[in-house]
Amino acid sequence: MKTANKKVTAERLVRDALEKAKHFADYNIFTFLNEEGAIKKAREIDAKIAKGEEVGRLAGVPYALKDNFLSREGETTASAHILEGFVSPIEATAVKKIEAEGAIMIGRTNLDAFAHGSSTENSYFGPTLNSHDKNCVAGGSSGGSAVAVALDIVEFATGTDTGGSIRQPAAFNGIYGLKPTYGTISRYGVVAMASSTDCIGFFTKTPEDMDLLMSITSGQDSKDMTTLPDYYNEDSEMSSLADISSLRVGVIKDFDNESVDEEIRGALKKKCELLKSKGCEIVELEMPSLKYALAAYYIIVPAEIASNLSRYDGVRYGFRAEDSEDLDGLYENTRSEGFMPENKRRIMIGNFVLSSGFYDAYFLKAAKARTLIINEYEKAFSKCDFILTPVSPNPAFKLGEKINDPVAMYLEDMMSVSLNLAGVPGLAIPAGKNKTGLPLGLQLVGPRRSDKKIIEFAKELI
Ligand code: GLN
Repeated sequence: MKTANKKVTAERLVRDALEKAKHFADYNIFTFLNEEGAIKKAREIDAKIAKGEEVGRLAGVPYALKDNFLSREGETTASAHILEGFVSPIEATAVKKIEAEGAIMIGRTNLDAFAHGSSTENSYFGPTLNSHDKNCVAGGSSGGSAVAVALDIVEFATGTDTGGSIRQPAAFNGIYGLKPTYGTISRYGVVAMASSTDCIGFFTKTPEDMDLLMSITSGQDSKDMTTLPDYYNEDSEMSSLADISSLRVGVIKDFDNESVDEEIRGALKKKCELLKSKGCEIVELEMPSLKYALAAYYIIVPAEIASNLSRYDGVRYGFRAEDSEDLDGLYENTRSEGFMPENKRRIMIGNFVLSSGFYDAYFLKAAKARTLIINEYEKAFSKCDFILTPVSPNPAFKLGEKINDPVAMYLEDMMSVSLNLAGVPGLAIPAGKNKTGLPLGLQLVGPRRSDKKIIEFAKELI
């Protein structure tokens, strides 16, 4: 990470990043550019450097913030009309931690409204374009953050991953994207999607930068009861990588079929050859329960979404519809006008699967399938140290191609959601490009709390 010093000032770094952000304006990456605030902070850091004072591990490093993280700079909209005008009175724990090390937020990035989606096309502010082909989607939901890093506007960006929203856009843009073990980084101050699968993570260009960000942000937070004690910075068997020639890497047999793009399967085989040449053993895994992951996810997640989104009623946050006759009307009009179609679809599915009479048939069944998936990962990790799989069945698709077909869009997530249901970490890694120049991505998966080891192992796959 290029930090500020006496020769290269924080102000220079920030001004360069802002200039690049403006240069790439047609990609629709940012929902807000923090020009004044970022320059002011940069000058404060430069003043400290001039005085020889302590300035943190990210001193003056410009970064992009997914617009579902609360911070006091700019509106936090989650790219949803219903949150327009909302200026947060609090700051997310993750934001606090990276800014305490001197990082400077230069802008907030576009996402599918409330992070519901796999292309960033569900944003109220329009889609973000892919860094390698402007006719293709950026991936989602953290499309803006991924493209900001891929186009070198910033060295890192934040993301949230509930079912693939960091890994898939990372794969679509040829960079690294980590979904940590559930509970590693505090979710406090991040707009909730599905609380039992939401994870905070990052986009970077290198495994080294990812490691630095993880060591800064991981750890317990009294404001998020689901956070784990800081295992990431502790030396243990879980965090140190054994000799590479003793490692076993699993590949999932069930994913090796025609529904997965041929060039992605080719990229996976190539990486396996590389690993074999380094002495790793490749283990074929059968994980039949993973076929239930997508269905279970699209029951459990909408159920949690319906509950989490019930707070947006036009009274407390952001947008309020005008001219309502009574309180019920205010709720109805605000929610009808403020949510995107995909948000509404999920609220309806969620309330349906939780309703009496259907709860047992849908929600409870999905919860049981989730247990099967958790067990299946545990079994798999008794046979191997890591699993290597595609992130998604295809590289970036064309803008507009799937937006009118929700099921086609959901199928994008078939290889990413099982990790969230099981709480295990996954790191998207670049794996070359296809014939048309689009990036191909794979994900490295490990048992819970093996995040540091995964990042170390990723260095072997470059
Ligand atoms: N694409 C998935 C969905 O739409 C994942 C979204 C996410 O991780 N935020 O639910």
